[in-house]
Amino acid sequence: MGKLIVQKFGGSSVANVERLNRVAERINSYVKKRHKVVVVVSAMGDTTDELIELASQINPRASEREMDMLTSTGEIISSSLLAMALHKRGRKAISLTGPQVGIITDTSHAQAKILTIRTERIKDELKKGNVVIIAGFQGVSTDHEITTLGRGGSDLSAVAVACAVGADMCEIFTDVEGIFTADPRIIPQACKIKKITFDEMLELAARGAQVMQTRAVEVAKKFNIPLHVRSSFTKKEGTVIMEKVSYIEEAVVRGVALIENEAKITVCNLPDTPGVAAKIFTELAKRSVNVDMIVQNVSHKKMTDISFTVPKSVLAKALKTSRDLAKKVKAKGVLVDEAVAKVSIVGIGMKSHPGVAARCFAALARNKINIEMISTSEISISCVTRKMQGKKALKVLHKEFNLDKI
Ligand code: ASP
Ligand code: MG
Repeated sequence: MGKLIVQKFGGSSVANVERLNRVAERINSYVKKRHKVVVVVSAMGDTTDELIELASQINPRASEREMDMLTSTGEIISSSLLAMALHKRGRKAISLTGPQVGIITDTSHAQAKILTIRTERIKDELKKGNVVIIAGFQGVSTDHEITTLGRGGSDLSAVAVACAVGADMCEIFTDVEGIFTADPRIIPQACKIKKITFDEMLELAARGAQVMQTRAVEVAKKFNIPLHVRSSFTKKEGTVIMEKVSYIEEAVVRGVALIENEAKITVCNLPDTPGVAAKIFTELAKRSVNVDMIVQNVSHKKMTDISFTVPKSVLAKALKTSRDLAKKVKAKGVLVDEAVAKVSIVGIGMKSHPGVAARCFAALARNKINIEMISTSEISISCVTRKMQGKKALKVLHKEFNLDKI
């Protein structure tokens, strides 16, 4: 029996005519096996970036509504071209925009959330024998406006569609072969991971691994939809992201990740009284600064230091907030350190294997890498180091946990 399959093709997979043709061939091979196929596409190559650049030349303060009108066109181009490529191969296919499908979102432009997906249109078209090709990244708001789902949002479109139609399988085709134990550009020996849990994937993504849109993985986890992330350029199997990976395949550490674009802020000599930390982080939160690691020192004479890391993109904002606050609470001053890196190890097996932290710290110590801050979750350990040593730290940990031999 044929299956109901949702396939998502990323921007690089549909970047030009030749690649679009190749994608059409691949879809065709599934249809020949009697599968029903719903396709979600991204915009061709760097189209979205180019559209954003174009807008900035016209008006750097373009409204979010018009930006959504503009950027949503990228996916319409690729979806219609792909439908034509299938028609040429004698296949029935129809391209649909987000609004045509009935992908209903809230009203927040540029970062809209999907509320519901009407499935009648998709089902009708499948019944007629069509391959349904959906323009990713977009929907229509409850106010009847076109909205987009945030950068990389076609992943979310695909997962949400797979969930709505009850797909048997959701494949995410991209320009890499899957999820790797580390970024292969930094560690060439990194291995492709066959299976990884949703939690590990989310944790790796939050700690610097870039493959899939995080929101898409969150939705997949919520509705338990296994995702197969694989290359559109080969037939090879990629990585399956799923709820549980069998005990035998459970690794202590599944992967490592590095973030080099964070900075460390230290508020020095704060009064060590209740409510001071609350004040700092409330002010930061009000300004939408996403704080990552937080360390408070042991206090001396009722005074203490608090350090935390923030993405460099919000450093100026975070710094100003911290300085204003330091004055208010009569702290001594604020230090900033941009030369930091954060390395993390992630693995579900940490829950059941003691000594992982010890092994991690010992490996770094043997390599003379100083740890400046540490934070842990149930399935991850992160260390802040000097930026200069970040890549080395990543390599050391990759080797320590035998990730080049999986
Ligand atoms: N084209 C959009 C972007 O580049 C959405 C996507 O590719 O998933 O962010
Ligand atoms: Mg894209």
